[in-house]
Amino acid sequence: MRIVVKVGSNVLTRADGMPNVTNMSSLVDQIATLRSLGHEVILVSSGAVACGRGAITPSRQLDSVSARQLYSSIGQIRLINLYNQLFAGYGLVVGQVLTQKENFASRTSYLNQRACMLTMIENGVIPIVNENDTASLTELMFTDNDELSGLIAAMVDADTLVILSNVDGIYTGLPADPGSRLIPEVAPGRDLSEYVVASKSGFGRGGMGTKCGIAGKVSDEGITVMIARGDRPGVLVGLIETPGEVPHTTFLPSPQPLSNVKRWIAHSASFAKGMIQVDARAEEALRSDRAVSLLPIGITSVDGEWEEGDIVSIIGPEGARIGVGRASMSSEETSTAIGQRGQRPVVHYDYLYID
Ligand code: GLU
Repeated sequence: MRIVVKVGSNVLTRADGMPNVTNMSSLVDQIATLRSLGHEVILVSSGAVACGRGAITPSRQLDSVSARQLYSSIGQIRLINLYNQLFAGYGLVVGQVLTQKENFASRTSYLNQRACMLTMIENGVIPIVNENDTASLTELMFTDNDELSGLIAAMVDADTLVILSNVDGIYTGLPADPGSRLIPEVAPGRDLSEYVVASKSGFGRGGMGTKCGIAGKVSDEGITVMIARGDRPGVLVGLIETPGEVPHTTFLPSPQPLSNVKRWIAHSASFAKGMIQVDARAEEALRSDRAVSLLPIGITSVDGEWEEGDIVSIIGPEGARIGVGRASMSSEETSTAIGQRGQRPVVHYDYLYID
């Protein structure tokens, strides 16, 4: 199995901002076990900012971007050094992948990033991935490393994404509430919004809300997602080998997995350069089970400027988003073709993702 493991800042760092060596050693030990059982592992590790925070007191009050840049520059090398040492104890080689949102924006840079990861995996190197927080700007950041781990799982065609957090999974209420129950299994397409309280804990950027959103999306794409508590002894090996014995939430994969291109498009909505509004008939056709492309005849208006190959959002007559796709003509060409019959598709079915 190819497994992407995402570990949150709360598991990897202590309250005082020092690396949590106990938790890190246990995870490395378990990843080494998974490797010896024949699995491939890609690690998405947070903790750079949290770890850097414990190492330095800035000379003056910093804005949030500068603080993140400073802390991550210090914390990332501490973390990676520790990982390198710990994995070396098992004779395993690790490599660092620092990435940012732009690398997922165009198909060319996406495929380049993917090729790098696959070469590492093919050579038995364990990729340790994090956002390049020294270069990211607030508006161009991943929502959090949960989003990043979903993108990575889709990118490397993982079988399973494991998200290790500081709670056992998704609960029917607040985890601390005695009346709350852990939800063991979530069927594809099931909406959990009634349960998820938009609260987050400690140092990381994510929370159960984003975890649920990402898990839903990634499992819809055909990848199993498991959310569990990272500091439970043996949790990782348990989830993969004897899942029935470990408290957690599994999001079951959709029986109709998406193609690699569609997965990329599904995660690309935030890169959309423009919007295409369609009429009710086109919306119905696009939402049907048939393989329908977006044709100029169904378009009522366009907004924004884009080139052929850019990502565009598709919205219905009421203004709600229907999906996202890769445009096969520019905004200018699309505007000229609006409403016309017999034209080539503006978004071909293969490059279309309906929400
Ligand atoms: N990239 C951030 C870090 O390493 C973590 C982002 C998150 O909390 O999800 O500190």
